[in-house]
Amino acid sequence: MGHRAKATRHNRTITVDFRDESTYFQVLSDGKAFVEFVLAFILALGFQLTHKATCRGGGCLTRHSHYARVRLGGLTLWRIQCTTCKAVFTVLPHFVLRYRTMRPDVARDALLATHGSLSLEWCAVLCHISPMALYRVICAFGQHSLVTVLTRCGLPLPTYILADEKHSRCRTDRVYLPTIVRGRVIWHLGYSASKSAAAFTGSYGVFQRAALAHEPSYQVRGALTDGFDSTTKSMRTLFPGTRLGNCLRHALNKLPDKLIGVSAPVRKGSRAKFHALLHRCRQRTSLRVVALGQRLRHFADHITATVGQEHGQRVRNWVQDKKAGWYAVLEDPSMPATSTLLDQTHNAIERKLFAMKGFHHPGGSQQAFLTGLAHLYNLVPYQRWAKHAGQCGVEVERGTVPTRDWFLNLQFLTSGGFDRAATPLTTKSGGV
Ligand SMILES: [Zn+2]
Repeated sequence: MGHRAKATRHNRTITVDFRDESTYFQVLSDGKAFVEFVLAFILALGFQLTHKATCRGGGCLTRHSHYARVRLGGLTLWRIQCTTCKAVFTVLPHFVLRYRTMRPDVARDALLATHGSLSLEWCAVLCHISPMALYRVICAFGQHSLVTVLTRCGLPLPTYILADEKHSRCRTDRVYLPTIVRGRVIWHLGYSASKSAAAFTGSYGVFQRAALAHEPSYQVRGALTDGFDSTTKSMRTLFPGTRLGNCLRHALNKLPDKLIGVSAPVRKGSRAKFHALLHRCRQRTSLRVVALGQRLRHFADHITATVGQEHGQRVRNWVQDKKAGWYAVLEDPSMPATSTLLDQTHNAIERKLFAMKGFHHPGGSQQAFLTGLAHLYNLVPYQRWAKHAGQCGVEVERGTVPTRDWFLNLQFLTSGGFDRAATPLTTKSGGV
């Protein structure tokens, strides 16, 4: 397949919606009509073609050459070329998937069933394909970076993030999925066989490089973690100076562990008190950190008075250990306070991985597979009883998707030859 050559050459394939197959075959016979159709389509999406670095895209496009795809029954595909920079774009009609024989409508149903956590095997039975073919389609979409796809939807790079790792299993081995989430969108879903800080830094570093390639001045202002050492360390290494917070709900859930041997009602009461304390501090508009410090001291005193010296001290030590992370949350009103949305993401991904146990094997393409699942997570709209029914994660975060059809969106957004136009729809006729 010439992997080496493919990696260095720029992928300038574009998927174009010809509405139906007969339209495609009609315009195929007329070179001028073909190019015009493609240009009108790109303009309507608010996209522009990815020319070579030196080209401003003001030139003309001509039909360059064509070839027949044997595996698709000899379907003719055309390439078009920019007359200025000579960049060549392969035009894929919407009813063809890049490098695959699987029909898009089959892939659409199978991916939706996958996204709904139906096992790979059952998805395959429903859609009359092999489980491996479905696995490969997910991996193919997963070759495209999340950062590229999300920024094409007009989402700004996240300045406040939730970062945490999911502990999972590959057969009997423990594996880790370092994840970055902002609201309802996954920006990074990595895969690591080691839980070392170096391994996590490597994984999160992939996100950082992609983000910096997109915006060289990119910086993370705040990150919320659950306090796992390797995650915090890699955040510090990659994003020095970033405000690092600890999840407040996580803190709340940990408190009962500090009161071992104490009766359940008393533990529950303490948790309620601690909850009220955090809540009141978050509601304040000023001096939030001072208020929290004061209340945490009172709280530890209260534990000493009601449950005893030993427990009071244990809570005091715990507070001492964690308070910097809580202060960081309260210092900046833009900081996320809980990692609930990240936990939900991890649960959703975990259900899919569980349904695909057979493919979670040492020789698999885990990274591509996970990224593919993450694209589905970001782009498939929520079902009709959900909170944001009909919208996908990208839209909930106020990004825009090219069409109302999530699968077409997935095809367009993972095309290598497009970019979001800097000033959508105002481009002069030749400037596509
Ligand atoms: Zn050009």
